[in-house]
This record gives sequence, structure tokens and C-alpha cells, in this order.
Amino acid sequence: MDKKYYIDKAEGALLHTYNRYQKVWDHGEGVYLYDTDGGKYLDFVAGIAVFALGYGNEKYNKAIVSQAEKLLHTSNYYYSVPMAEAAEKITKASGMDRVFFTNSGAEAVEGALKTARRYYYNKTGKADSEIIAMDHSFHGRTMGALSVTGKEAYRAPFEPLIGGVVFATFNDLESVKAKISDKTCAIIMETVQGEGGIYPATKEFLQGVRKLCDEHDILLILDEIQCGMGRTGTLYAFEQYGVKPDVLTTAKALGCGVPVGAFLTTEKAAALVPGDHGSTYGGNPLVTAAVSAVLDIFEEEKIIGNVKQSGAYLFEKLEELKAKFPNVIKAHRGLGLMQGIELSVSARDIINKAMKNGLLLINAGDTVIRFVPPLVVSKADIDAMIGILSGVLEGLNL
Ligand SMILES: *Cc1c(COP(=O)(O)O)cnc(C)c1O
Repeated sequence: MDKKYYIDKAEGALLHTYNRYQKVWDHGEGVYLYDTDGGKYLDFVAGIAVFALGYGNEKYNKAIVSQAEKLLHTSNYYYSVPMAEAAEKITKASGMDRVFFTNSGAEAVEGALKTARRYYYNKTGKADSEIIAMDHSFHGRTMGALSVTGKEAYRAPFEPLIGGVVFATFNDLESVKAKISDKTCAIIMETVQGEGGIYPATKEFLQGVRKLCDEHDILLILDEIQCGMGRTGTLYAFEQYGVKPDVLTTAKALGCGVPVGAFLTTEKAAALVPGDHGSTYGGNPLVTAAVSAVLDIFEEEKIIGNVKQSGAYLFEKLEELKAKFPNVIKAHRGLGLMQGIELSVSARDIINKAMKNGLLLINAGDTVIRFVPPLVVSKADIDAMIGILSGVLEGLNL
């Protein structure tokens, strides 16, 4: 069957919530994806920062297959071996004390928000708390996560959302200070903004926010769903800032392809008690076996070491590209293997042209292309990507 057959089938039944690229994927291998027409594509998207290990890591695949054959699911009213192992590994690796496994990033954010409200309620006995969130942030599509997402267009059709949310300007400490009140229970932000256009927090800002939280007994929630799991060159990006959150959200590469997320808390912020929160699937044996395997493979295959090397190389190469095409590339920023270039033209147009030449890229907003390849990407892969992208930009004749 050609791809049109599958696309028509899908569009005949799916709710139309995405303008999808006209590709039907068949399988993946390393940093390459193959479509049903036999085309081969260098993948600098990785399912949006998910497939950190690349496609077809043997140890990872084995862990999933053997767990699937053994036990897929059991209720959270019991324990399972993979859950116990993954919980211990992720708390140790992140430096947090407690973890709750979810099925997605948005759900991890929901749990983090409930934690903050519960913490405030325990402290004050009141149900009038406020949350400070950031402009240009992205935290997910469920009602709570959407309420703290900084893009008006995403929120507007679904108002009224959860109350008590105020927005401050990312990387502007004074704007945060101005929003703090007696009712503030949490400040939520991404350590590196992803969907908003790849903006790392400045050190002064994140350290300043941490200090404000300490002074006012406010919980700092860092959303590292995209920038966590090694992507910036440390397991979690906050490690590079000399701060620690009270609540951390993680997902995307946490399971490298199985639907799993988590929110983690310090002992102090572990405010939720039995009856407060739950999930039928959350942390089931299949997904936690994957999490466990991912964390083992990160160690054994020195994934983060590769992020440091390849990340620095990507930075250098994109700087060169910016110097070569100053009329098209207006800015370049990012950390590790989470980088972005801001264009004077539509990102989608460039992405389409790159795809025609066998390269997958993704935007972050209308004019930013983000680079979030598998964390195993090599210098040769980066050279290949730059070669294709350079050819596309040359063809613009700008
Ligand atoms: C992707 C993302 C989310 C939402 O995760 P889902 O798994 O899509 O629900 C939340 N926060 C950040 C920073 C993200 O990048």
C-alpha cells in the first residue's frame, strides 16, 4: 500500500487536531527513520525529544519485550518489581526524595500543581492559593497544565481554566517579585523553555527565583519534561544552575518511547497523602521496566558524555551556519542537544524542504527550528544534518 492509503484512512477517522506532515513511518534504526515508501530520514526530532537512545537499542528492546511477556499491568494497590526498581533509581539519579509515576508529561504537571496546592492547604488551612507561571511557557494540554501555559491562544478557547494563576516574564526576576503575594503556593517554570522557542533560564534568574521561594516558603516546580533526562548535558538541567527544585516534572525521554512521566518531590514538599491522587496505569510494570532500562543504559553507554561532546559540536556548527547565512538565521541558543535557531523566514517552509532532502527537523513556534536529536547522535550525523540544512538555506537565495 502506498502512503496515501494510510493517510486517507487516518484522516477519515482521527479527530483533526494536528496538521501532520505527509509521512507514514514504518520503522527506525539508530538515528534514522524509514517510511512506508522506503525513504530514509536523518531524525533530529526524536519524537520530540523522546527517543534518546535512538531506534532499536537492543538492551532497551529486550527489557520491554521480556516484561511484556511476564506482566504488563497490575493495580497501584499492589507493588511490582519494576516499579520498586525504577522508583529507587530515578530518585537517586535526580537527587529528589519521592516519585509518583504518570502516563504523560501533562499529568506530571497536574500532580505537581496538586502537590503545591496541598502543601499550601496543609500550611494555611485555606483554599485560596495562587501559582506564578511564565510567559511563553508550555506545560501540556490538560486543563491544569494548560492553565499555567503561557500562550494565550492555547488557553483562550478553554476558559475558565483553574483559577489563581498569574504570569510573570521569563528571565525577569523583578516581574516575578511583583507577582508574589501571601497566597503564592508555587512558581512553575521550565529550566529551558522548549515549545516557547528554546530559551534557557539565566543563572541569575533561576537562582533568584529559588531564593524568593525560600524566603516566602513557596514551592519551586521545575518542568524538565523536555530539557531533562540528559538532554542539556546533565541528567537534569537544574544541576547546572546550583539550585534544586521542590518539585520536578519529567517525561518524554524518561521512558524513551513508552508513555510514562513522573513528578518528584523533596521530603518537605511530599504533601500528598493516600486518597489525594492516583492513576490506574501510572507506573505500571511495563513502563517502569522501560524507565529502569533507560537509566541503566544511560550509565553503561555513557549517554550524557556523548551529549556533552555532540552538543558542543552542534553548537559550533550552528554558529558557523549562522555566520554563513546572517540574513536567515537571526539567533542561535540552547544547551547540550537542545538548541534552536531563530529564522527570518517561516520554520515550516525550511522543515518541508529539509524533509524533501532526507532530514527531519521540528519547529518551536513559527520562526524557530529546534534541534532535539537522539542523545546518541554522532559528529558525523551532525555534519550530515548541517550539510542538508546548509543546502536548503542556500537555495533560498536570501
Ligand atoms: C511536552 C511537554 C509537556 C507535556 O507533555 P505530554 O507528555 O505531551 O503531556 C509539558 N511540559 C513540557 C516542558 C513539555 O515539553
